[in-house]
Amino acid sequence: MSIAENILRIKSELPASVRLAAVSKFHPLENILEAYSAGQRLFAESRPQELYSKVCALRELQEVDGAVEHGECALRELQIRESEVASPVYGDIEWHFIGHLQRNKLKFVLPYVSMVESVDSLRLLEGIDEWGRSAGRVTNVLLECHISNETSKQGFLEDEVYEVLGSAGRFGSVRFCGLMGMASFSDDEAVVRGDFGRIRRIFDCLRSGVMRSCDDFRELSIGMSGDYKIALEFGATIVRIGTDIFGERF
Ligand SMILES: *Cc1c(COP(=O)(O)O)cnc(C)c1O
Repeated sequence: MSIAENILRIKSELPASVRLAAVSKFHPLENILEAYSAGQRLFAESRPQELYSKVCALRELQEVDGAVEHGECALRELQIRESEVASPVYGDIEWHFIGHLQRNKLKFVLPYVSMVESVDSLRLLEGIDEWGRSAGRVTNVLLECHISNETSKQGFLEDEVYEVLGSAGRFGSVRFCGLMGMASFSDDEAVVRGDFGRIRRIFDCLRSGVMRSCDDFRELSIGMSGDYKIALEFGATIVRIGTDIFGERF
């Protein structure tokens, strides 16, 4: 099946209220353009440099018809224009960042994304807030919760999530939009259901607790290629799908 067919099939399985984030990491620009032609507008990347060079390349493509000089992928030029970062790149493509983010890479990511789904430490949160204050921007974030049984996966533990959001007011340049989580890598549906059930419970708890007066706090980003149908049962509002759209990553 083609990328376009995959997108149409997956979209037909999602309720209208659920957003599909097409995870394009490791895949070339042509694949993104094919998805774009099929109507896909929300893409997700997990590595700062890769996101940055794709944004750069798309901007160049966009400018081919214009008066702007092009030729080499002008990273310098892109940096100069960080002030106009809010303008959409390649028409109306929207990017989410979903990978581990270090503070020294923020400038490659924050100007270009509409949301960072993978905020996994207080230090990162403070860095994003600081960047936002100096750039005059508010960044939409999801807190990544550690829900799987794997020790390697990033994320806040349940108690830490309550603690951080208990002092959400501290972060004036961050907008807390919800939670993100990855289930255990397991063929056992019961394990996956357990993980999604846990994050759903935390989400509900926050929505009726410390975040109850915060209308922005409504996103639950759970579900990948292998488990998005289960995630829908647990109230996913965003699913992040790579392999089922673009094929295997190498
Ligand atoms: C790579 C990735 C995905 C997509 O995984 P697939 O199994 O290819 O759909 C989703 N979420 C995160 C955080 C990822 O890093």
